[in-house]
Amino acid sequence: MDIYVGDIRENAPQCAEPCGRFFNQSGTYPNCPGGPSHHYDMSLWLTSGFGGGAGGDWGQRIGSEYYMSNLNADNLHILLHEIGHSFGLDDFYDWTPTGVCCFLMKAGSASSITEFDAWMFRDWWRHLKSRYGR
Ligand SMILES: [Zn+2]
Repeated sequence: MDIYVGDIRENAPQCAEPCGRFFNQSGTYPNCPGGPSHHYDMSLWLTSGFGGGAGGDWGQRIGSEYYMSNLNADNLHILLHEIGHSFGLDDFYDWTPTGVCCFLMKAGSASSITEFDAWMFRDWWRHLKSRYGR
């Protein structure tokens, strides 16, 4: 595992941008010290006082207080929801699939990964895997 120190952004440590997929969408990582094989795909951004969460192709952002107070919890449901976004899953704020009540991507309806979340992720991969030669 590569460890970088002294890289502070918005008062929080961050992973080295030259090695981040979000910052190097060409996939070449010319300024990453270890080269492409040492890149990272997403990072967790802990922010003091941050309520809720945010997630995208760059990683996840959640409150450091929420994270630290749940270190021993089996499921950090806000983080799990935001990781879903990092993998490309959408929010379900305005509709619910027929026959399904509760799942992580319908924020607030589940506190752990449900069978429906797993099926949604499998379906997403089924549609995307050909892009990656799978
Ligand atoms: Zn969301």
